[in-house]
Amino acid sequence: MTKVEQCWKLNISKLKDRDELAHIANAECEDQEMAIAYNLNCSDDLMMATITFFLNGEVIRQIIDIETAELPLGDRPYFRCQCGNRCSVLYLKPDGSKFACRDCNKLIYEVKTVNKKLMGGVLYQVNRINKLIEKSDKIDRAFYNGKPTKKVKSFIRLREKWGV
Ligand SMILES: [Zn+2]
Repeated sequence: MTKVEQCWKLNISKLKDRDELAHIANAECEDQEMAIAYNLNCSDDLMMATITFFLNGEVIRQIIDIETAELPLGDRPYFRCQCGNRCSVLYLKPDGSKFACRDCNKLIYEVKTVNKKLMGGVLYQVNRINKLIEKSDKIDRAFYNGKPTKKVKSFIRLREKWGV
């Protein structure tokens, strides 16, 4: 099983330029970055990203569909994975050759792999807190119409569950 943390993550928000020219977006893994060349082709409602990257000595080119969801606060783009899943982040395994969603990559989170009893709870605790910090960093739009968004709700639930 590969962990989410071990993968390169490409966020749709990094693919900003829609002028059909080549640009660079960074995929991230821990504190490392990988340059991904991309260009977006838009025609009518269809948008496609062609990405090119260099992994394990090979140049890899991949075409990914992009979908736009119409939301009250404006349109929001998503990747459409090969399996049909809509997601904001695609993952590339260290030994992989393609970006895909979490399901396709069968990824698990680090927090699930740590055995509570075995580690005396200490590492588990650190892990949980890291996870929370990471999550809180990702809450970009916390409230919508005065109500917490789903992300915030799940964050609050996690915090209650873990008691931190
Ligand atoms: Zn998928």
